[in-house]
Amino acid sequence: MAATIKCGGDRDTSESTMSVKKVLCSAAPLTLRIVAECPVTKARACDLTLPHCTVSTPVFMPVGTQGTLKGITADQLDSLGCQICLGNTYHLGMRPGPDLIEKANGLHGFMNWKRNLLTDSGGFQMVSLVELSEVTEEGVKFKSPYNGKEILLSPEESISIQNSLGSDIMMQLDDVVSSTVKGPRVEEAMHRSIRWLDRCIAANKNPDKQNLFAIIQGGLDAELRQACLNEMTQRDVPGFAIGGLSGGEEKDDFWRMVTLSTEHLPREKPRYLMGVGYAVDLVVCVALGCDMFDCVFPTRTARFGSALVPWGSLQVKQKQYAKDFQPIDPDCQCPTCRRHSRAYLHALFKSDTAAMHHITIHNISYQLTLMRSVRQSIVEGRLPEFIRTFMKRMFPSQDQYPSWAVDALASVNVTLD
Ligand SMILES: [Zn+2]
Repeated sequence: MAATIKCGGDRDTSESTMSVKKVLCSAAPLTLRIVAECPVTKARACDLTLPHCTVSTPVFMPVGTQGTLKGITADQLDSLGCQICLGNTYHLGMRPGPDLIEKANGLHGFMNWKRNLLTDSGGFQMVSLVELSEVTEEGVKFKSPYNGKEILLSPEESISIQNSLGSDIMMQLDDVVSSTVKGPRVEEAMHRSIRWLDRCIAANKNPDKQNLFAIIQGGLDAELRQACLNEMTQRDVPGFAIGGLSGGEEKDDFWRMVTLSTEHLPREKPRYLMGVGYAVDLVVCVALGCDMFDCVFPTRTARFGSALVPWGSLQVKQKQYAKDFQPIDPDCQCPTCRRHSRAYLHALFKSDTAAMHHITIHNISYQLTLMRSVRQSIVEGRLPEFIRTFMKRMFPSQDQYPSWAVDALASVNVTLD
């Protein structure tokens, strides 16, 4: 069943296109080996080989900001077994800037991280963080929050910054529209994202060292998303992301757009679902056929004292933990749970930011361990049972199962009991 596929599905057989594809394919620094496919759902377990190491998928990728994750060092992330994390192009591009990072041998050298890095295009942050942004065909215009200067982030500029950062996976600049927006703006953004993809492909100076992923857009409109899938999958990019979701839309719309996307993405390329990090969403979307995920949620929620556990979350600040000498999760093998009690973390939270740091480590470990268990169950052909056990533990009774998850799982032949 295992198959090694170098990038490039052949859909177009015209000779000129084929020869261009061959050049791109032999150069793309990515291979995807499908280790196992679930016989019931659309899930798969793969070995994704990138320039810095092989990533076992399905994988959760923790999100960094200024070159490191808030509350955790590169060393600690490495010792948790993290094989790929995210760098934030918008923040790094603004400060300290791409020139300085290039001098430090890219973001790997700058943050002393030996595993893989994925960088975003910078566009999403701009649209969501900077109020004064304007999207034109040229790119995204905005005022620097640091010095007020007007800056244009074009597809070419985004790729130039990401080339300086030296990430293993770069994301195309896309025209981001909130998933709750409807109407002609969604269609415009989808078509523009396709044009910007072509400009990003042309601008990539390191196609032999850095993989450029396309981002499927189209909002919650099945026809638009299908049109975007048709167009983008004709481009020979090494991987695809499903974008424009996880922005507050109805979960029912969310999973239907995810499943439509995985249905039409090529089997031989990695599929990255952007902005998804809740445990239930991860497990369901693996079953729908996604390989890679990222989200700020586990690290952000840690800073508010919320620890992720198989039965949901545990609020360390709550009084009931003041005299509780158990670890956060007695079954967790992370450095925090091996050393510290709930009572200690509860007390520490009142006086010291170190408590956030300990919980951040636990939460990242929780996400990575969850994905390893999911992968193991795919490899051993027991994903449906894994999902049933996982849901039972997460929700005290069956009537608390979210209906969207029940429907999504039923669509891939998993009925919950
Ligand atoms: Zn732990």
